[in-house]
Amino acid sequence: MAVHDLNAIAFPVLSEAQIAQLGRYAGAPPKKVRAGETLFRCGDRDSKFFVIKSGEVEIVDETDDKPKTVRVEGPGEFTGDVGHLTGNPKVVSATARTDCEVYEISEEALREILNQDPQLSDIILQAFIARRQLMRESGEFTGLRVIGSRYSRDTFRIRDFLAKNRVLFTWLDLEGDPAVSQVLQQFGVTEADTPIVACAHRVLLRNPSNRELAEAIGIRRPLEQAVYDLAIVGSGPAGLAAAVYGASEGLSTVVLERTAPGGQAGSSMRIENYLGFPTGITGSELADRAVLQADKFGARVSIPTLVMNLTFDKAYSVLGLEGGETVVAKCLLIASGAEYRRLGVEGCDQLEGRGVYYAATPNEAQMCRGSDVVLVGGGNSAGQAAVYLSQNARKVFLLIRGDDLCKSMSSYLAHRIMNTPNIEILRCTTVERMLGDGHLSAVEIVNKLTGEKRTLQTAALFSFIGAAPRTDWLPQEIEKDEKHFVRTGISLAESPRWTLKRQPFLLETSRPGVFAAGDVRSGSVKRVASAVGEGAMSVQFAHEFLKEM
Ligand SMILES: Cc1cc2nc3c(=O)[nH]c(=O)nc-3n(C[C@H](O)[C@H](O)[C@H](O)COP(=O)(O)OP(=O)(O)OC[C@H]3O[C@@H](n4cnc5c(N)ncnc54)[C@H](O)[C@@H]3O)c2cc1C
Repeated sequence: MAVHDLNAIAFPVLSEAQIAQLGRYAGAPPKKVRAGETLFRCGDRDSKFFVIKSGEVEIVDETDDKPKTVRVEGPGEFTGDVGHLTGNPKVVSATARTDCEVYEISEEALREILNQDPQLSDIILQAFIARRQLMRESGEFTGLRVIGSRYSRDTFRIRDFLAKNRVLFTWLDLEGDPAVSQVLQQFGVTEADTPIVACAHRVLLRNPSNRELAEAIGIRRPLEQAVYDLAIVGSGPAGLAAAVYGASEGLSTVVLERTAPGGQAGSSMRIENYLGFPTGITGSELADRAVLQADKFGARVSIPTLVMNLTFDKAYSVLGLEGGETVVAKCLLIASGAEYRRLGVEGCDQLEGRGVYYAATPNEAQMCRGSDVVLVGGGNSAGQAAVYLSQNARKVFLLIRGDDLCKSMSSYLAHRIMNTPNIEILRCTTVERMLGDGHLSAVEIVNKLTGEKRTLQTAALFSFIGAAPRTDWLPQEIEKDEKHFVRTGISLAESPRWTLKRQPFLLETSRPGVFAAGDVRSGSVKRVASAVGEGAMSVQFAHEFLKEM
C-alpha cells in the first residue's frame, strides 16, 4: 500500500457524529487539559484512549537521545495503537500542545466499541494496525535498544524474542557499530555487561531471561486465578484460530505461549498459499492480526508462558507453568505444534544462535548480508528461506538429501529456486561437521553418492529438517502415535484409555474434553490453513463437551 494511503488510514479524522458517539462510550463529559499537560508517557501501562474534541495534542518519541515530535493531532483525531488491546506499554508520549478537550475512554469501553460498533471498530482497528506498520517501516523509531555482540547467543536470543513479539527495538552490534563505545559510556556500562536492554536513557536489564524482559517491558502480565472454559497451549495458527473462535463465541479463553505468537508460521517471510492473500503475507503479520483479533474478543494471551505439565483434577485440566503458577480449565486444546529437529552433527550444539539458525527472518538475514550461507532441507520452509535469503546473501548453498527438489517441495517454489542465479542446489548432500571458535566459520559437507567431501566457508547455516511434535509436556493419559504426535478422534474408539460410551469427537484426544489441533495432531496436514481450520473446529467440540459437563 502507498505510504499516503497508509497515512490516511492511520490518522483518520472523525466526524462530529462519530466524536459524539465515542463521547457516549466515555461515559463522562470531555476532560479539560491545559497546554503542556501530559496525557500519557512512553512506558505507561494504563491503557486509556483519548479522542480529541478540541485543541492539539503532540505525540513525541522519547526513546532516542533527543525527543522527536512524531505528529500533532487535532480535533476528531485519537491517540493509541495496537498496544491498547494487547496491554503493551505506550511506545510514545502525548502532551497537550494547546488547551484541549479530550474524551478519556477506558480499556473496557474500547473493547465495547470494537465489539458493538462495527463502523467505529473498523476505523479504530485499521488505524492502530496502520500506525504500527508506519512506525516499523519508517525506521525512525529507536524503541528499545539492545546492545550486544553478534557472536553472543544471548544477544541473539533477546533480539529474536523482541522481533518475534513485534516489539520496536534497535540493535547496536558491539562488533559492527562505530557508535557503540560512546553509547556504552553514556549508559555507564562496559562490554562485559552486555547484552543489555535499554530504554531512552536508562539501562533496563542486563542479560535478562525472556520472561524477565517481557515483564519489564509490560508484555507479560500475571494470569488471573480463574477456571477458564478453554485453555489453549500454543499460539501458532491453530491456537490463535481457536482463541478467536472461542472468545468470540463467549468462552472464557486463555492462550499460553512459550515464545511468541505465530508459531512456525511466524518465521515464514512469505505465506503464499493461505486463502485470501494472493500476494502472500508474512507469518508475523498474520500472527499480529490474529492476536489483535483474539484480544478484541477478550481472549487472554499470555506470553512467554511455558507449560511444563498437565494433570487432572476431576474433570478439569490443570496446567503447570514454568515458575510454579497453574491454570485450570474445563476444556483444553493442545496446539503446541512442532519444531525443527537439531542437525545433531559435531559442533552444532555449541554454535546454535552463533551462526546456526532455525528460522530465516530479517533478524538472521541482517547478519549475513553479502556473504555465503548454507541452508539444509528440501521442504517448503527451506524453499521459502532460500528465496528470501538469496535477496541479501551473496550465495545460498541449498543442501538436500535426495536428488530431486520437486519430490519434497511445492513445484512453484522449486522452480523459483532453480531460476534464482545465486542459489546453488547441492543434491544428495548432508552436513558432517560444523567448525568455528565461538561463531560458525565453516561447514564440512559430503556427497552421499560420490563420497566427495567439501568445506564451505560460511558464517550462517540455516536448518529446516523434519519437524518433531512438541508433546514432551503431556502425560500418559494423552495417547500418542509412534512418532509422538497426539492421536485424536475415531482412531481412539478402541483405545483402553477411552472410557466414555460415546465416540471421541473428531479432534478429541484419549482424555474427554482435551482436544488437539494443527501440526501436533497425528495425521494432520502440516499447513497454516489446516491448522487454522482445526483450531476453529475444536471450539465447536469444546461447546459440545461443555454441554455434557
Ligand atoms: C519457515 C516456515 C515456513 C512455512 N511456510 C508455510 C506456508 O507458506 N504455507 C503453509 O501452509 N504452511 C507453512 N509452514 C507450515 C506451518 O507454519 C505450520 O503447519 C503451522 O504453523 C502449524 O501451526 P500450529 O499452530 O499447529 O503449530 P505451530 O505453528 O508449531 O505453533 C505451536 C506453538 O506452540 C508453542 N508451544 C509449544 N510447546 C509449548 C509449551 N509447552 N508451552 C507453551 N507453548 C508451547 C510454540 O512456541 C508455538 O508457538 C511453514 C513452516 C515454517 C517453519
